[in-house]
Formats: sequence, structure tokens, C-alpha cells
Amino acid sequence: MAAVIPSVPAPSLSPAFGRLARRDALVRTALVSVLWLGVLLVAYWWAAGGGFQDLGSSLTDALLSLGRLSGLVGSALLLVQVLLMARVPLLERAYGQDRLVRIHRIVGLTSFDLIVVHVVLITWGYAAGRLGSTPATFWDLTWHDPGMLLAVAGTLLLVMVVLTSLRVARRRLRYESWHLLHLYGYLGAGLALPHQLWTGQEFLASPRATYVWWAAWAAVAATVVVFRVALPLLRNYRHGLRVAAIFPEGPGVVSVHLIGRRLDRLRAEPGQYFTWRFLDREGWTRANPFSLSAAPDGRTLRITVQSDGDGSASVGALRPGQRVLVEGPYGRLTPRARTQRKVALIGAGVGLAPLRALAEGLGYAPGEAVLLQRYRSHQLFAGELGVLRERRGLNLVAMPGARRSAGSWVGEGYDGYDDAQVLLGWIPDLVQRDVYVCGPPAWTAAVRQAAEQAGLPREQWHEEAFGW
Ligand SMILES: Cc1cc2nc3c(=O)[nH]c(=O)nc-3n(C[C@H](O)[C@H](O)[C@H](O)COP(=O)(O)OP(=O)(O)OC[C@H]3O[C@@H](n4cnc5c(N)ncnc54)[C@H](O)[C@@H]3O)c2cc1C
Repeated sequence: MAAVIPSVPAPSLSPAFGRLARRDALVRTALVSVLWLGVLLVAYWWAAGGGFQDLGSSLTDALLSLGRLSGLVGSALLLVQVLLMARVPLLERAYGQDRLVRIHRIVGLTSFDLIVVHVVLITWGYAAGRLGSTPATFWDLTWHDPGMLLAVAGTLLLVMVVLTSLRVARRRLRYESWHLLHLYGYLGAGLALPHQLWTGQEFLASPRATYVWWAAWAAVAATVVVFRVALPLLRNYRHGLRVAAIFPEGPGVVSVHLIGRRLDRLRAEPGQYFTWRFLDREGWTRANPFSLSAAPDGRTLRITVQSDGDGSASVGALRPGQRVLVEGPYGRLTPRARTQRKVALIGAGVGLAPLRALAEGLGYAPGEAVLLQRYRSHQLFAGELGVLRERRGLNLVAMPGARRSAGSWVGEGYDGYDDAQVLLGWIPDLVQRDVYVCGPPAWTAAVRQAAEQAGLPREQWHEEAFGW
């Protein structure tokens, strides 16, 4: 018995489309405002401390002044990027984790560049503008200025985090190794704080700036502890998730049904994912992200997992009763992102899992939702989708077989049509729909490109790529 007959009552047909999406847009505007206010505040401290005047005096003063400015802005951005990855539910709902990761990467690299500029300019400035003396000055500052040894250690950790996040390095690392190294970024950020307060001209001159800086760092550290540690621990203790049953879905693919206490309080939405740790088995310390493949009904959860490596392969060997630890729910491939009455769900392979949950959990009248499924040979959830077609009027389009080329999202047999034409051929009113897409990263990117060519407005595009 692989199929679960969709059991969640069909949601209301007239939800206030766009209301939650507008609220999320407000949260995003608020975050961007906080970011700029933070940057403006530290720039104000710098200007109030004579930053501008120093620029116009000697070369040494100008170097030190620019060094202070880059250090202050770099540190403010460092705080912002820690906040972005703190799993704050408000931000997770407003952005979705993949978008947060993309912003974190841009803010992180900018912050890192500014910190490097800070180190170079300050050292050069203390060397009185003589480049040749800079290494000796750096050595001297490191060993004799308060907090500098810690700051250098912190910067080296940040260098390691950035180097291991470069595409060439990441391709060679296992996800878990990369993630573990990345966590040292927290230590790096923390080690940089004392030298700012002990030697920073702006903080030495103004107790008020010192209090504000302390408060900002304490608030961000508390956010990390609450949302990355305390909340997941509390949730796991409260819900006591266990494996209820495992069913094969196809070659190398299984569905795992889970039960627990008061699962409604998890507030999981169809289309979201958790990171999972299955206890009592080897490698339980490693968490893997898997999406819900059925709309959560408050009593059970279901995931569908394709064997891809050690972690996912061992899911098939789980036994009923095994304890499970989760973090989440995460992701914005959800009904709350919706802005239009009509929807298109487009998925490939096991990427169909969250779309299957959305097909069940979204409100739509017969004919308003279409699901386009790409698969090589085995059609996942064929029986369940058939039930949704009969009961809810979900339109189904199947696209089997190999992909016609690596850069295309389309299967074979569409010669003479480009990717956008195929998309519009199957979904002519695409631009009037919210489009939810899930699959491997390269495939998802190819669909995005075709949708953009077809004229889909950006706010109607919602994706989750199964990769990092
Ligand atoms: C948001 C999201 C939702 C997903 N939902 C599903 C799902 O519903 N069903 C399903 O079968 N697969 C899903 N995946 C893919 C699944 O997480 C990976 O296939 C799995 O974690 C691989 O781990 P492994 O130990 O089996 O293989 P490994 O050999 O360790 O990894 C294989 C590849 O999987 C990726 N990966 C490994 N661990 C992670 C991680 N913690 N986060 C992100 N990527 C990782 C890496 O690209 C890695 O190269 C999802 C991925 C993401 C990012």
C-alpha cells in the first residue's frame, strides 16, 4: 500500500490571495531598512569621531580613517549575515531559506571584503603609509594591541569559511564537512568583538555607541541561541516524533509516515521541508533536508525520499517506532506565497514530493491548478495524483523520458520548439498563475529561464531546488 488517499479536506476556494504575500513583502522591506539603518549608524559614528576631517589631513590619518570605516561597516554586515541564518521564523516565512542563503552569501562576501580592506588599511596607516613596514607593524599590532590576537584568529577563521565556500572547494567537500567548517564562522565573528570595543576610536569616545554595539551583538547572539538551539530542542521534546510506517514508492524511493504529539503546533505548511535526524542508526548526527510529501493534517507527517547517498539510502532501512529529531519547518514553497487564483506546479523526479503536498493543500476550483511532472521512467505518486484529479479537478501533464539536452528542462519529442514554447504549449495562461517549481538545481534553473522568457512576473515564481 504505497498510496495515501489525499485525506486533508479541500481548503477554502476563496483565500485572500496575496494578503500573506504582501505581509511577507513588508517584513522584507523592514529587514532591508534595518540593514541600511545599521550601516548608516556606524557611518554616523565614524563621521562624528572625525572620520571626514581625517580624510583631508595626512596620508596616515586618511588610511586609518578609511580603515575604521571599512571595519565598522564590515562588522555591521557580519552581524546582519549571522541574523539571516539564525532561522528566525518571521524571516524564514518572508524569504524562504534558499533566498536567505543567497542574500547571506552576498552580504557575507561584502562583509569579508570590507574586513580584509580594514586589516590592510589600518596596518598600512599604523605603518605611517610606508608599505615596506606593514608586515612588521602587523606583527607588532597582533601581539601588543588589546584583543588583536583574538581578532586575527577570528579573521583567519572567516578566511577559512570563505575559502571553503568557494564553488571549486565546495564541489570537493562533503556537505556535512562544509557545514561543520562553516559553523566556525560564529566563533570568528565572536573573536573579533573585543578588539572593536577595546581599540575602536568610536567606542572609546562614546559610551552610548559602546552600549548600542553590545546590545546589537547580544541580541543577535540570543537570536541564534533561541532559534537554532532552544526552539528545535523544545519542539522535539514536545512533539516526540516517531516513524509510524515505511512504504516503497518506486525504485529507490520510499515514503516515511511519522506520528507525534500535537503536530498541528508545528505550523507546517504543504510544500515546506524539515531537516531530519533518524536516531538509533549510524550517522544520526547528520541532518538531511526532506520535504513533506503530503499536506500536514495535524496528526501525521509524511516524507518521500530517494536514495542518493549514505543518509538518504539508509532511510529505507528505518523501522516503525524509531525516534526522529527535526528542525523546521522551513521554505517558502507554500500557499502563503500565492498571489494568483490559478496555479501551476512543475516538478522533476523526487522534486514532486512538495508539489504533491501543495496539490493537496492549496485551495483551487476544478481546472484552476495544473501539475506538470517530469520523470525518466517511474511516475511518482501516480495513484494519488489520479485521486486528486478526480476529486479536486487537478489537471495533470506527464513528461516522461530522458531530457532532450543538459541545459533544457524538457523531455525528448519536442523538436522545433524551444523551452519557453513547450512551457506555454502546456500552460498557455502561465502568466496568470503562481508557478511552484521543484527539482534538481540545474533543472529548476532551466524552468526559471523558460518562465522568464514566457513573461512570468517575478513575484509569481516560487522554487525549491533540492541541492546546495
Ligand atoms: C530544501 C531541500 C529539500 C529536499 N527534499 C527532498 C525530498 O523531499 N526527498 C528527497 O529524496 N530528497 C530531498 N532533498 C535532497 C536530499 O536532502 C539529499 O538528497 C540528501 O540530503 C542527500 O544526502 P545523502 O547523505 O543521502 O547523500 P550525500 O552523498 O551526503 O549527498 C548527496 C548530495 O546531496 C546534497 N546534500 C547532502 N546533505 C545535504 C543537506 N543537509 N542539505 C542540502 N543538501 C544536501 C549535496 O548536494 C550532496 O552532494 C532535498 C534537498 C533540499 C535542499
